[in-house]
Amino acid sequence: MSDLDTTKDLLGELIAYPTVSADSNLELIALLANRLHDLGAEVEILADETGSKANLLARIGPDEPGGIMLSGHTDVVPVEDQDWTSDPYRMVERDGHLFGRGTCDMKGFIAAAVAMAPHLAGKQLRRPVHFAFTHDEEVGCLGARNLSDILRDRDTKPGLAVIGEPTMMRIIEGHKGCCEYTARFTGLEGHGSRPELGVNAVEYAVRYTARLLELREHLRHRAPPGSEFEPPWTTINIGRLTGGHVHNVIPGLAEVDWEMRPVQEADHRFVREEIEAFVTRELLPEMRRVHPDADVITQVIGEVAGLEPMEHNAARDLVAELTGANGTDLVSFGTEAGLFQQIGMSAVICGPGSIAQAHKPDEFIALDQLEQCLKMLHGLTDQVAA
Ligand SMILES: [Zn+2]
Repeated sequence: MSDLDTTKDLLGELIAYPTVSADSNLELIALLANRLHDLGAEVEILADETGSKANLLARIGPDEPGGIMLSGHTDVVPVEDQDWTSDPYRMVERDGHLFGRGTCDMKGFIAAAVAMAPHLAGKQLRRPVHFAFTHDEEVGCLGARNLSDILRDRDTKPGLAVIGEPTMMRIIEGHKGCCEYTARFTGLEGHGSRPELGVNAVEYAVRYTARLLELREHLRHRAPPGSEFEPPWTTINIGRLTGGHVHNVIPGLAEVDWEMRPVQEADHRFVREEIEAFVTRELLPEMRRVHPDADVITQVIGEVAGLEPMEHNAARDLVAELTGANGTDLVSFGTEAGLFQQIGMSAVICGPGSIAQAHKPDEFIALDQLEQCLKMLHGLTDQVAA
């Protein structure tokens, strides 16, 4: 059986598990774990705190640092309210395309990686190859966060990560982060004629917003030299500001929804620290002078780390060598790559299929994309073989 046929068969099996982020992925993880275990891989199933989801970590080759990690998420987005031509959870082949939920985002890459595993298992390897298959990527990279927490402290942590999100096999070495917050202001209601007796939550929310806009101006001057992001700096957007009821009542509650898209982790920390300091040093003391129970609570809705383009990136260089691609790009979508970069791995995104088909009805992957991916993985096998 050709590697492409093995990949297709396995992909068909993976598509049949409706691993929407909200639901369990344990059966699919078990299938992949068994397959890798049967090849002699060292396999770990790392359950989350609910016990209904798990990450899979497997290793073929020596138990040493510096290995290469092939990484993909097992969850898919829902199909509700989408008009599919055929059952999204039964893969169909038509005109050189495989249709089904998750074919390109991103079970196709997982199937190709596992289909190639027998070649790795049959050789003496100079450096280990790891498989990392995660849960809950589509809802904020929760699985990869758990996984990176575990890997951070391991002496045998992989050195390189290849994240197979659909890029049409182009090499992607950067994307901005995406961090979303809701700030809730609790003041004290009162009559509009006596503002000094109340704590006007809307007014404090406005001052908070104004401070964010000042920080946004600072961010423009912090763009890394040569940044190719569009725009080149970290941005902030105020998405929603609500509070109050009528003209003559001091509002007791207000909310601000805002997001930041950092081009570098330092900007992320800078904004968080500055806005936090503004709240604790300026807003809260004033609010609590009138009403001790007044509060400002910033809830983290999601923080997806960016992937910072680096001058030295071993993962990028390896994939460039394997695919023969010249040049790299940046993308506007977020991935798990930044989390792995933050724990000291070099990371790159390169995988089969197009992001244009992801999350859509009749999602598909082209067979020639899978073939290109298999070619890259073959090259990798030759690279790591002794
Ligand atoms: Zn994805």
